[in-house]
Amino acid sequence: MKIIRSPAAITAWSERLRCEGVTIGFVPTMGALHEGHRSLIRQARLQCDALVVSIFVNPTQFGPQEDLSKYPRPISQDRAICRQEGVDVCFEPTAKAMYPAGFQTTVTVPTVARRWEGEARPHHFQGVATVVTKLFGMVRPHRALFGQKDFQQSVLVQRLVTDLNLGVDIVIRPTVREQDGLAMSSRNVYLSPNERHRAVTLYKSLQAGAAVIRTGETDAKAVRSAMAQVINQESSITIDYLAVCDPRTLEPVSSVTSRVVLLGAIRLGSVRLIDNLLAAVPRRSS
Ligand code: AMP
Repeated sequence: MKIIRSPAAITAWSERLRCEGVTIGFVPTMGALHEGHRSLIRQARLQCDALVVSIFVNPTQFGPQEDLSKYPRPISQDRAICRQEGVDVCFEPTAKAMYPAGFQTTVTVPTVARRWEGEARPHHFQGVATVVTKLFGMVRPHRALFGQKDFQQSVLVQRLVTDLNLGVDIVIRPTVREQDGLAMSSRNVYLSPNERHRAVTLYKSLQAGAAVIRTGETDAKAVRSAMAQVINQESSITIDYLAVCDPRTLEPVSSVTSRVVLLGAIRLGSVRLIDNLLAAVPRRSS
């Protein structure tokens, strides 16, 4: 496996392979790789001839009070996982190479970014949209894989690629979970044993919402309150948001008529967790 740090070098590598007709797959990450990342990498390996994984803790998507400096960076372990999974190139640019002196262009996807994570983390999605655009420009992949775990991000990336004609095929893969259902996340290491035990409440709340929909409930308020009830049973977990939304626009719906996405964010001590679940009204048997 090659380790490439320079943007010019990854572009040269990619261009050479593209000329030979090789299909290039790409999995962008911030490192601290877990089974969720591994599943994206494995799937990309199956779908593409050559595979690039980027590891870059992007400073512009962190707010001033967020965890940029303490974000886990186990680079040797990450490289070992990439090697095990047959990655061809681990692209590890520096912040200086990504944002050199004079850098000023940003990408915004205003409507998708307006609510939920965008509201809780004001500059987050501008940072994500800009870095994804830059990484695509450097790596020039045919296909890039993202996780459903970050649902709003996945909608934003698809919008961005369509709007800017970036010509990258976007694949969204299901959320990989711990045995108890907690969505895997690089930030789960921040949870104390007691918090870790209670963190699954968010998933349970989403499941409660989906279960109510399956029984035929169409009132989004009733679905939301079924979700909130699960969280409120636990002491010292605060709800950032719980929402029943259209999965394409992320706008809240008042009535569940077809497919919806249940979105949730909670705070457990100093840790903020997000998760989501797709749900659909049951089909009527004729
Ligand atoms: P990150 O390193 O957190 O920026 O995530 C890199 C990619 O991995 C993103 O596309 C995430 O949505 C995806 N990802 C993170 N956690 C999971 C998970 N539990 N299951 C599937 N994909 C995930």
